[in-house]
Amino acid sequence: MPEIKTDGGTVSIDAPPSTCPICHHASSPIFLDATANSDIRGSNTQIDAAYKCPASSCRRLFIAIYRKKSINGGTTTTFYLQTLLPKNYKPTIHEEQISENFPNFIKIYTQSEIAESENLDEIAGVGYRKALEFLIKDYCIHKNPEKEETIKKTQLGNVIENFVEDANIKICAKRATWLGNDATHYIKKWEDRDINDLKVLIKLSCGWINNNLLTEKYLNEMQ
Ligand SMILES: [Zn+2]
Repeated sequence: MPEIKTDGGTVSIDAPPSTCPICHHASSPIFLDATANSDIRGSNTQIDAAYKCPASSCRRLFIAIYRKKSINGGTTTTFYLQTLLPKNYKPTIHEEQISENFPNFIKIYTQSEIAESENLDEIAGVGYRKALEFLIKDYCIHKNPEKEETIKKTQLGNVIENFVEDANIKICAKRATWLGNDATHYIKKWEDRDINDLKVLIKLSCGWINNNLLTEKYLNEMQ
């Protein structure tokens, strides 16, 4: 375990920050100073550690906040990295076909990312589930414009089953829906999966949908 010096004594931390929260470059930031807000032996003590970003294009200062973890009724002696400040949210760049065709999805996904960056993980999970629904339904409406009203009213799982033809999109969207429902419902079915798995499946779905729409575009343009 690495150690840092604070004004209240030396403490062990799980790891120094691996990225700069301002420029988002992965780096080994330069440790400057740290302060403990109460006795370092206390269970609720917080360490604020100041670092400098070594990237020549950035060189900004930021703060890493460390706290102990509670395990089996006690607390660890090691301090764990909780968050980096200032928060500088970095939006995902989506594929061109996705941004062009699915503005509702982009809007909801972006709001979910902002919620996640503020540690509002419960809200973010529900948001990602909603974003997925708009992505899949708007994609199916794009493919079957005459079925728009039916698709809008149908449950997402049934839309995927009945209107998604591409096997890869179907596989990813179905699994994303399972995890998305976990984020919305009281009882969780997929205990070992979390919001990151949901995001990976949404990302995969976007990739397959983008490929599908690009192929469709070239087919139409080059008959
Ligand atoms: Zn930086």
